[in-house]
Amino acid sequence: MQIHQPVITTNGSVRATWVEVNLSRLTKNLQAIRAHVAPAKVMIIVKANAYGHGLAEVAKHLSSYADYIGVAVLEEGILLRELGVKAPILVLGGIWGDQLPHYLQHDLTLTASSVERLEQIDTVSRQMGLKAKVHLKIDTGMERIGVHYYNAHTILESALKCSNVEVEGIFSHFANADSSDLAHAHLQMERFNEVLQFYKNHSLPMPIRHMANSPAILQLPESYYDMVRPGIMLYGVYPTSEIARTVPVLPALAWKSRVVYFKVVNPGHPVSYGSTWQSDHPVRVVTLPVGYGDGYFRSLSNKTQVLIRGKKYPQVGRICMDQMMVNIETDSAFNGDEVTLLGELDGESISAQDLADWAGTIPYEVLTNINTRVPRVYITEKNN
Ligand SMILES: *Cc1c(COP(=O)(O)O)cnc(C)c1O
Repeated sequence: MQIHQPVITTNGSVRATWVEVNLSRLTKNLQAIRAHVAPAKVMIIVKANAYGHGLAEVAKHLSSYADYIGVAVLEEGILLRELGVKAPILVLGGIWGDQLPHYLQHDLTLTASSVERLEQIDTVSRQMGLKAKVHLKIDTGMERIGVHYYNAHTILESALKCSNVEVEGIFSHFANADSSDLAHAHLQMERFNEVLQFYKNHSLPMPIRHMANSPAILQLPESYYDMVRPGIMLYGVYPTSEIARTVPVLPALAWKSRVVYFKVVNPGHPVSYGSTWQSDHPVRVVTLPVGYGDGYFRSLSNKTQVLIRGKKYPQVGRICMDQMMVNIETDSAFNGDEVTLLGELDGESISAQDLADWAGTIPYEVLTNINTRVPRVYITEKNN
């Protein structure tokens, strides 16, 4: 019989619910992506706590293998610099004016998404006696941040006049690269190509061009340009269940818990808040110390399953903030038994896509929703 080691987190606490991140798989996923997109470079996307995998550990582990690191917000970039990460870091999101000195102090690459912002970057870097590295953001059909493709010449021309700005890159973002109908994605690429023509027309050196997120990496080889930006794929998860799995990657994250209580529940005795579930015969029910307060969606109530001793069992009754119940019928489970909420065990698995389907969301949200109360434990595979 297996001996159950309590999980000791870095701050010394002991918790019966934890996330295991397999760092070796992250490395292999990155290698697989790199091999597939070569000679294009790879910007690893580690925003949102590295899709729930833990920003600090993931970045420390992968930064030396990455050509570039992409984060969403300034604070994520600063954290990486404070950890000693030396790789170039692009902050992908929009900038608020007062943040500019912080970007420059921490040697973070800025996303210039409007002419006004670009000029501000130039002014602040001149005041600080620095040269800012920027990537120009072109909106080719997402209608999020970025200069519209039909106005792009304004920012490209303005950049030529900004002497304290180095336009290192230029990028855009797909709205529909995960679709089976790639017409809109192709239209976005055409628009991007047209914008890029500016550099050829003016005999200017071409900045680093990048556009492809995970779905585009899987479906649109012509979108790789000089660099790709994989997020979810890096973590071994495919963006949708339908998309072709043209690059072999494996999930790096497992979410686990333990049985902390066992009881027999009799018919006529409904389980949990709102009494949404009851059995018509006596059943064995175990309680797990995990709930929506950990990021296990309440909308999974009475829909989700967990793995105990290599077998899938249905969760029953409403999921509580810190606990939930599982019906093991007539099977056995003991206090301390390991439970897999997300991951593989003895050939069975519950994927982020499964949880997403049951909760009515996408795997991205399943992963990024696992909150920081859940300690992350990092493992590496020895013989690989
Ligand atoms: C999040 C993000 C990505 C990564 O997307 P995935 O689908 O997870 O690969 C790439 N580029 C930008 C601009 C993003 O915001």
